[in-house]
Amino acid sequence: MAHALHPVHLVGAGPGDPELLTLKALRVLRAATVVLVDDLVGDGVLELAFGGAPQRPRIVHVGKRGGCASTPQAFIEKLMVREALAGERVVRLKGGDPLVFGRAGEEIDALRAAGLEVVVVNGITSGLGAAAALGIGWTDRRVDARGVLLVTGHTREDCDGQDWDAIARVAAGGVTLVVYMGLSQVGAIVERLRRTLPAGLPAAVVQHASTARERSACTTLGGLVDVVAAQGFGSPAILVIGRVADAARVAAGVAPPLRSYVTT
Ligand code: SAH
Repeated sequence: MAHALHPVHLVGAGPGDPELLTLKALRVLRAATVVLVDDLVGDGVLELAFGGAPQRPRIVHVGKRGGCASTPQAFIEKLMVREALAGERVVRLKGGDPLVFGRAGEEIDALRAAGLEVVVVNGITSGLGAAAALGIGWTDRRVDARGVLLVTGHTREDCDGQDWDAIARVAAGGVTLVVYMGLSQVGAIVERLRRTLPAGLPAAVVQHASTARERSACTTLGGLVDVVAAQGFGSPAILVIGRVADAARVAAGVAPPLRSYVTT
């Protein structure tokens, strides 16, 4: 092999605010020669990393979201492998954390199969950015929130791939639900969860968490669909469903504290 090969870094860019990048992410980005960027990466992140830099790496946008031509996953993997085998310092920059609904597994496998070393640099996942936006904890002891379940609202074409009854049973035990990629299917998701969970269970939606375009609304499971429609929420957004969201409702002045959900 003519070149010394560098490890490929899978780097989390955080939910949007460039200041939520880790110091390690910044260091690795600045050392990169090729950066493959997802479209959920906040606009300011590349500016912060390379704005004042004398030399920018080659930046390849490999976004997959709505409207734009998508880059097939296999192509992204091939590109990373090819560049790394050519001796480039490759960074794969993803929104949030690479290990949360980020297809990191496939990429790590492809890189390792090519004999490359992989280093993951964590980022702040957008679900946590949403919690911060709402000013609520995922595991607030005061409402006996016993854990948190991160779920995708969208498996393949629709939400049917998920066992929402099982998810609802977990939530009924006091576990906070954080739903990624759930907005386009919110009606169907709520309908399925409502088979087990009460309409009065607090719920919130946060769009563009941690960015200048951040907006949120606090409601209940029964009110979620109407709030999303009436206020025109769109992607990217996180749904938070569970007792912990009540604190956000109260703080937002939507309602006095609910009590009934604790026992239902
Ligand atoms: N790896 C990412 C998740 C990728 S899946 C992470 O850890 O955050 C894409 C989904 O993430 C979107 O559909 C949306 O549900 C969520 N998301 C990403 N950025 C967001 C943001 N700034 N605000 C709200 N939701 C966001």
